[in-house]
Amino acid sequence: MRSRIAVIGSGPAGLTFARVLHRHGHPVTVLERDPARDARPGGGTLDLHEGLGQLALEKAGVLEEFQALSRPEGQAMRILDVDGTVLRDWQPRPDERANPEIDRGQLRDLLLGPLDVRWGRGVTKVVPGSRDGVLVHFADGLQETFDLVIGADGAWSRVRPAVSAVTPRYTGVTLVETSLDDIDTRHPDLARLVGDGSVAVYGVNRAVVAQRNSGGHVKVYAQFRVELDRRTDAGRLTDPADADAVRSELLARFDGWAAPVLDLLRHGTAFAHRPIYALPVSHTWAHVPGVTLLGDAAHLMPPLGAGANLAMLEGAELGEAVAAAGPGDLDEVVRAFEEQMWTRAGRWAGITTAGLERLVSPDPSEALALFDEVQPS
Ligand SMILES: Cc1cc2nc3c(=O)[nH]c(=O)nc-3n(C[C@H](O)[C@H](O)[C@H](O)COP(=O)(O)OP(=O)(O)OC[C@H]3O[C@@H](n4cnc5c(N)ncnc54)[C@H](O)[C@@H]3O)c2cc1C
Repeated sequence: MRSRIAVIGSGPAGLTFARVLHRHGHPVTVLERDPARDARPGGGTLDLHEGLGQLALEKAGVLEEFQALSRPEGQAMRILDVDGTVLRDWQPRPDERANPEIDRGQLRDLLLGPLDVRWGRGVTKVVPGSRDGVLVHFADGLQETFDLVIGADGAWSRVRPAVSAVTPRYTGVTLVETSLDDIDTRHPDLARLVGDGSVAVYGVNRAVVAQRNSGGHVKVYAQFRVELDRRTDAGRLTDPADADAVRSELLARFDGWAAPVLDLLRHGTAFAHRPIYALPVSHTWAHVPGVTLLGDAAHLMPPLGAGANLAMLEGAELGEAVAAAGPGDLDEVVRAFEEQMWTRAGRWAGITTAGLERLVSPDPSEALALFDEVQPS
């Protein structure tokens, strides 16, 4: 009899895992808390790296579809100082495919493909060690048992407590996200400023980054160091639902910056606060038979272009390993996968943690130096 396998969460990790198992003809149950496929906006743009996210897509058999949808021109990157002077203006070669961008919603649709996700199945708890397998508890009070449960349920994983008592900590940096629609028509000057890819402006302990998504949609991230608000447990000062108040607060926080940069904030419509949390670098746990974690659930790290890539590659690698496992091998396969994941994720967690310190730093020249170190010439 085939193993009963469940993956909790239909983010990049869970969907890539399920898609690879599906490709190998192995049944898998995908359990997602969202009530429906389109219950939430898809989110911003992701750059998928050769050798990480793109390798995962190859393993899932959808690399060609990704290449057709993705935006290689989105790799363009411009850096300004707070006065608006252009310090770097990097344009990819026409054949550059190292890190093309794709909208998160497009990626999700691409991975969902033939998968049959069970929507509205919020998991509250996972209990390993029962005689019949691993018990999954749902928010509606129902329970179900599986041989292997994969926690791919993100930063605030409900599966994680089954293997680790560690919880994410606030990094000291908060993002406030806003967006502009139809930028080429409504704000042509800002469209030129953002270009085909991203523009980033680094000041003392703060930054503004704007990224072009498909269809003339631009996401803007104001980033700054701020204490957590103890009442709300978030790095917020103003209710995000009060757009006018958040806009005023941001304009005050970035007072004195070049007018076009402030316009990116001024013309933003809705705002969302995203305090950046991370798990400790090199988070590991004592192996628990029947349960493991992937992606942010395993190694939440600052958002410097690695999290989704790692989540997807881990999903693909574990999917291949599980599909190839013989009867009775499943636990050994998962154990070996965990060792491999921990080593790679630990390295990236170190890189992104140090990177965040340099990007939102008392010395803005650190951000420029980091860009010069990582950008191909
Ligand atoms: C602003 C920003 C920009 C980023 N940019 C990039 C980038 O360019 N490149 C990159 O590689 N990474 C980027 N990241 C990081 C990336 O978004 C994450 O690392 C990635 O989404 C992790 O994927 P995941 O599948 O592990 O978790 P998630 O994407 O968080 O997916 C988890 C899924 O589980 C579901 N879920 C949660 N709880 C439950 C539950 N109890 N029961 C059932 N389902 C549940 C959720 O609804 C969700 O569908 C960025 C992050 C941020 C915040």
